[in-house]
Amino acid sequence: PDLRQLDPVDVGLAWPVPGPRDDKYSQGVTGIAAGSATYPGAAVLATGSAVLSTSGMVRYAGPAADVVRSRWPEVVATGSVTDAGRVQAWVVGPGIGTGREGREVLTHVLGAGVPVCADADATTLMAQQPDVLDARDPGTPLVLTPHAGEFERLMGRPPGEDRVASVREAAAKFDAVVLLKGNVTIVADPGGRVLVNVARGSWLATAGSGDVLSGLVGALLAAGLDPWLAAGCAAHVHSLAGEIAADGAPVSASGILSGIPDAIRQVVRL
Ligand code: AMP
Ligand code: MG
Repeated sequence: PDLRQLDPVDVGLAWPVPGPRDDKYSQGVTGIAAGSATYPGAAVLATGSAVLSTSGMVRYAGPAADVVRSRWPEVVATGSVTDAGRVQAWVVGPGIGTGREGREVLTHVLGAGVPVCADADATTLMAQQPDVLDARDPGTPLVLTPHAGEFERLMGRPPGEDRVASVREAAAKFDAVVLLKGNVTIVADPGGRVLVNVARGSWLATAGSGDVLSGLVGALLAAGLDPWLAAGCAAHVHSLAGEIAADGAPVSASGILSGIPDAIRQVVRL
């Protein structure tokens, strides 16, 4: 009953399109805490996705600052989250690792008092070291974007047959919006509201694809969207970007990135 698929028209209406009085700050400053020396690509992909999905500003903080800077000259990149500057929402997790440094980054971001999209290693850290959630600023929106394996770590069991019920449970448990990735992506909030996104085609099942999704979620959070709607809109545009870029053939995560402008163009014109 209260389970619905987002109408592309609603995605277009929700998308942060700048008006004459807007500036880069009103469109949102997205912070990306991702990547490591071993995984600089996660940083490049998550950052790029935020760059392409908002007209605001993107800041990157982490060990891949040089790589990110050379790939995305419009991004302000620093080595550490502690001197990242003002950010309106954080993306944390892709490629940060689950060691001491990853934990420090996650702790900082959770306490920053702004909405957070936690993906990949950030969700694994929450599963393995639940006390990291004590750092969370109460009342600030949190969006978790696990794939099935990460979901199993968070909940101690796989999503199972009734994925909708499982995702609702996770949302209640973490008092967060939970987006479970897959061919059918399910988004639930702690109040039990559910959105689904059904991908048309499965070329999105490719390395780095999830990193691109996290940047989209972060950009929409920074623009001030409701976290449940932000996650739903991000999933919609992510799969549309993949579909456009793939056009019936394999697509890389970089290819999904390049499909983002066309996907946004499609939904905001509806
Ligand atoms: P990750 O595993 O973090 O790289 O995320 C994978 C991304 O690809 C998510 O956005 C999933 O929803 C999407 N995805 C994974 N498998 C499929 C599939 N079989 N069909 C469509 N989309 C998929
Ligand atoms: Mg991932």
